[in-house]
Amino acid sequence: MTRTVIRGGQVFDSLSGTASIADVAVDGNRIVAVGTGLDGDESIDATGHAVYPGFIDSHVHFMADGDLDPLRSVYTPFSLNFYLAAERMARTLAAGITTVREAGGSDLGVKQAQTSGLVPGPHMQISISILSQTGGHGDSWEPCGAHMPNVIGVEHPGKPHNIVDGPEEMRRKVRELIRAGADVIKVCTSGGVLSPRDDPRHGHFRDDELDVLVAEANAAGKWVMAHAQATDGIKSAIRAGIRSIEHGIYLDEEAIGMMLERGTYLVPTLIAPRGVLEAVDRGVAVPQYAIDKTKMVIDVHRHSISLAIAAGVKVAMGTDSGVTPHGQNLRELEEMVSCGMTPAEALIAATRTAAELLGVEEDRGTIEVGKRADLVIAAGEALDVNGLGQRVRTVLQDGKVVAASG
Ligand SMILES: [Zn+2]
Repeated sequence: MTRTVIRGGQVFDSLSGTASIADVAVDGNRIVAVGTGLDGDESIDATGHAVYPGFIDSHVHFMADGDLDPLRSVYTPFSLNFYLAAERMARTLAAGITTVREAGGSDLGVKQAQTSGLVPGPHMQISISILSQTGGHGDSWEPCGAHMPNVIGVEHPGKPHNIVDGPEEMRRKVRELIRAGADVIKVCTSGGVLSPRDDPRHGHFRDDELDVLVAEANAAGKWVMAHAQATDGIKSAIRAGIRSIEHGIYLDEEAIGMMLERGTYLVPTLIAPRGVLEAVDRGVAVPQYAIDKTKMVIDVHRHSISLAIAAGVKVAMGTDSGVTPHGQNLRELEEMVSCGMTPAEALIAATRTAAELLGVEEDRGTIEVGKRADLVIAAGEALDVNGLGQRVRTVLQDGKVVAASG
């Protein structure tokens, strides 16, 4: 095998949050040495560049791409969605995101297209269908009686129907998702922004339903992630033992205390509300209800995330890309800094902590000997996250250069 040395870059250490000049040697799909004066068969000059572990986005949707006009999805042929997803996966990888957690929409075939090498893209954990109560965030029913495809798309043989009510239906549904290949179970424990008639301030599902959900998922060795915006929907998710709170718009002190006590992760998705308003600016026909709800939540969301960061809640980077166009993922680091993180803390959230959330910390998330050789080389200073997305020059995944520019 060829040993490649990335020479002279500022290597970011996601354990200490510091950076120092070093070489990184890669052989096969592993990091085999980190130090100075390393030799290899090939070398990549990283002088004047930062070297990071491959970034991990804990919340993306490949079946959407910032197109928030519901009619657009009505006119999209079913199978075209998969070809579109392939391009979005490649774009995400080229942006420096080497691993994602797919928060609803992609099925096992999408994941296998990547793992088999057919389509370039990040390593992927999939949740497939977003579980929602009747009338909840994932219910696509419209007043005319039709079901509108949305972020999560339509159900199909690889993607079970997602509406669940009551503990017994929940038990069966989790088993169906495990059967379909879900790596993680996604549930909406509150209303949301991009759905017509539910309210992000209302909690969804009751404790008996969430207890069954978590028990069935855990029995199959899986964790649960909760779209949780309302204060009581956040608390019921934490009480039930759900691993991560996605969005976390209406956190209060009690919820933050519960997260600290249970070790619950927070995935802020701060660029998502910005993405809704940016879509309006691009001329996308975003429904008025979504614009109104975005304006209602955008400031309180930032306030909540700032409180959680100050309190020391474990934060893993996640963007809800799909609400924003894919490939802009690293903007989220600047947003996290604007809510009180240091740049080093934001970089840790996007590498080591996200790896822990996904349970892949033995394999990814830090630049250490034995870890998977997923690496990002970016122009400029390692501890500067401003414009990081535009500074990405070379991306390695499994030890291979998968994107290079400039
Ligand atoms: Zn989402």
